[in-house]
Amino acid sequence: MNNIDDIKPKADSLESKCPLCNSKGFFSFQGRDFLFDKPETYQYMQCINCAAVYEEPMPTFDEIVRYYPDDYDVYTKIPPLKHFSFSKLGVLHYKYNYTDLNIPWLFRLLSPSIYAFKYCDTIRFIPNGKGLDIGCGNGKFIRDMNSLAWQFEGVEFNPIAVDICRRAGLKVFHGDLHTAEFKDNSFDLVTARHVIEHIPDPTIFMREIARILKKRGRLVIKTPNSNALGRRWFGMHWFANDVPRHLMLFFPTNLKVLTKRFGLCQIAEKTFSKPRIILKSLDYLTGNLGKPYNKRKFFRLLARLYVLLAFISRRGDEVFAIYEKI
Ligand SMILES: [Zn+2]
Repeated sequence: MNNIDDIKPKADSLESKCPLCNSKGFFSFQGRDFLFDKPETYQYMQCINCAAVYEEPMPTFDEIVRYYPDDYDVYTKIPPLKHFSFSKLGVLHYKYNYTDLNIPWLFRLLSPSIYAFKYCDTIRFIPNGKGLDIGCGNGKFIRDMNSLAWQFEGVEFNPIAVDICRRAGLKVFHGDLHTAEFKDNSFDLVTARHVIEHIPDPTIFMREIARILKKRGRLVIKTPNSNALGRRWFGMHWFANDVPRHLMLFFPTNLKVLTKRFGLCQIAEKTFSKPRIILKSLDYLTGNLGKPYNKRKFFRLLARLYVLLAFISRRGDEVFAIYEKI
């Protein structure tokens, strides 16, 4: 196996072009597929203008398809419905317009106090609201949202995942967002959770989302934060790099600028971390093939300290942001 520390950059920074702003980039890091333990290496550049990080050269469609084995991620079975606690449902009712939920009166009464102590980022409910989950996987998120009275459907690339969704009675298009050819102004809410980093041209992707959103419709994005403390600490071993499947890594400001170009206004943004990401990164860094750090109590405790540090410094591993079509 190659020692990836010894490999020199393949691309001349003068030749590379940022997919977001077309500016030049400089070498950022060289990594390999730690998840499936493959030896091939891939190079990433960072834009000198907007600081977006992108794979260079950008892989072709056929190459991208080969990055995803059938057992990638979640495609296994119909997931159970999420259990929402009464305190969470109370906050949804009190603050986010989820007025049709069946909630005990005590939790309705207490919901303003609960909200004051436990702020939960979510989307305000729209009666008869239509939603689209891009890259819906096994459909868990669609089912959870529909249990809150949304009318969600999905788009999914993986045929096994699509089959699982359809067996669960969910409406899912098999393919990518563009081939689905949704009508203009179709959705009140579009969610792209851990999707945009897998897209070779996020500009075309965002234009399509803006087209299918209704006016005042909202977009939710979750994606790795290229400005994360964990990325700084672990470099090429940072779990959320997910080389080579992640084609781009975004600074939060990249997303704000990109969405604004298509008439979407940012209304919320935060970063957050989970112990799992940093402990998986530690597995990669140390080449740990034994018991994962995520399964060791002491390290899970230590990771909570990291989560706190990332929170205080506003450099969490993931970005969560909401945009509205104006
Ligand atoms: Zn750029």
